[in-house]
Amino acid sequence: MAYLSRYLKIIIFLTAVSGLFCVFSRSAKAADIPVLMYHYIAAPQATTTLPGLYLGPDIFESQLQEIKKHEYNVVFISEVAGSLRQAQPLPKCSLALTFDDGYEDFYTKAFPLLKKYGLKSALYVIINRLDTPGYVTRSQIKEMAESGLVEIGSHTFNHPDLRTKKYKDAVFEIRDSRSELEKISGYPVRTFAYPYGHFNTDDLSIAAASGYWGAVSVKSGVSQSADNLWQIKRLRPGQLSGQAFSNWLRESFRSEY
Ligand SMILES: [Zn+2]
Repeated sequence: MAYLSRYLKIIIFLTAVSGLFCVFSRSAKAADIPVLMYHYIAAPQATTTLPGLYLGPDIFESQLQEIKKHEYNVVFISEVAGSLRQAQPLPKCSLALTFDDGYEDFYTKAFPLLKKYGLKSALYVIINRLDTPGYVTRSQIKEMAESGLVEIGSHTFNHPDLRTKKYKDAVFEIRDSRSELEKISGYPVRTFAYPYGHFNTDDLSIAAASGYWGAVSVKSGVSQSADNLWQIKRLRPGQLSGQAFSNWLRESFRSEY
């Protein structure tokens, strides 16, 4: 018995230090899955009014290293939506990475790091900003989609506040952007991100009727469910790096929201 309890202690200790202390699926159609939300991978510009959207490449790399080190199971956001829809739980400790807006530094800074660590991410692009200064190009999108590490998602044609749009314009921005982006990327577009995280009930129904598997919001949390496929929650990893990031991520699995 003494041996048994010693082994048990060792196992508990290893589990705790490894970070694999995630809460498992709540049920077949609900699970705790952190979906991390990023924007720019760059040091904040002195003039910016939104420093929270920036994360330096060194800090981002440190976060990827922690994710790798603790063996989290990084999946595409479409896999999160797909698993909830089909009630097929993902492996424990799964998480997804997402980037909004399709900034150029995703291609120049984030994509090389994702390749280095072999980690998957989604990139939500604004179609009418492609090939303009500061944003990714159509050919970069094709290249990244073909790499198997980047899943392209729609973030509309024009990045409007959808709540202010007429119904037919919202349909254009949400539904038609999906088919257009499939032509550009050459791959299925499975998920959608609401610009600014804003939507009304019509927008939720349009998203649900547009052929997507799910849509991401900016609502904070990790408890995902099949009932909430059109408002998938996300988390902002902030400026945390190293052990602090690791602790934050591990704790996020235990949160109740
Ligand atoms: Zn955006």
